[in-house]
Amino acid sequence: GETILSVDNLDVSFQTNSGLIKAVRGVSFDLKKGETLAIVGESGSGKSVTAKSIMQLLPKQSTRIDSGSIVYGGNDLLEYGNKEIEKIRGKEIAMVFQDPMTSLNPTMKIGKQVMEGLIKHNNIRKKEAKKRSIELLTEVGIPYAEERMNSFPHEFSGGMRQRVVIAMALACDPKVLIADEPTTALDVTIQAQILNLMKELQKKTGTSILIITHDLGVVVNMAQRIAVMYAGEIVETGTLREIFYKPKHPYTWGLLQSMPKMHQDQSVPLIPIAGSPPDVSLMHDGCPFAARCPYVMKVCHNHKPDQTQISVTHAAACWLEDDWAPEIKQPEKIGG
Ligand code: SF4
Ligand code: MG
Repeated sequence: GETILSVDNLDVSFQTNSGLIKAVRGVSFDLKKGETLAIVGESGSGKSVTAKSIMQLLPKQSTRIDSGSIVYGGNDLLEYGNKEIEKIRGKEIAMVFQDPMTSLNPTMKIGKQVMEGLIKHNNIRKKEAKKRSIELLTEVGIPYAEERMNSFPHEFSGGMRQRVVIAMALACDPKVLIADEPTTALDVTIQAQILNLMKELQKKTGTSILIITHDLGVVVNMAQRIAVMYAGEIVETGTLREIFYKPKHPYTWGLLQSMPKMHQDQSVPLIPIAGSPPDVSLMHDGCPFAARCPYVMKVCHNHKPDQTQISVTHAAACWLEDDWAPEIKQPEKIGG
């Protein structure tokens, strides 16, 4: 498919009291027209930082984009000034965050908030904006939308609030929707409803979705492709099938093993990934997963593995993919 958003070799660092931390290192991926790409990783893996870089939402005082490009519509968004990015933000690239209150004004009626977005980006009259707002709220599954236009955010449940945010995101018919842990704060049934809603809306609008999540379960129902992030780097990329049935990176193996299986007896303990997430301030030259990897070799400590292309759509950064590496059998029962 045609690429709509292309992130290339992105490096982002944070200024902290203990010095500069490289939060994102050499991240590259393409988002294709109409697809859903998921970026999966533990918290602190740099996935949110990556997403926020796209829309220049990182705090300017403490963050620095060291290198890379984010190409959208033939231009590098990283070179855009405030005014230019404002024109794209919300209109062409919309964002949905974990906490819907990030995007809602608690003191303003829901209807007015949806209408404002429509008027700002579409140059339409109030009457038309009102009609369209009611339609949008109905489309995202808010019952009695006309009456609920007059409610305030606190009068809605968390799930309903996230529906409103999605309605607002869709109000301008964005080409790209970036959803950062959109269902993490919601309970399981509501999670499934919101994900289904996003999927349905994508079918209608053809919007490309970049979904950021720590939860592989979310990905199963949504994404065609997955990028696995660890310690600021993408360690494996592939189609849903490749990642679930032919994963190549030991970190991906760990993620899959720690994931609850659909019909798994709840009393069976999940296998957690041993060790704790890395302190990115202590990263050295080797593989970022070396300290936790059960298959670590000497080379892993001092030399960063390159991405090895496994298929046209599948790549992994692990020395085990190298020709001279010992044959490792993947752990059993992956992807079951
Ligand atoms: Fe493990 Fe080495 Fe592969 Fe890193 S490069 S994931 S440490 S085997
Ligand atoms: Mg996050």
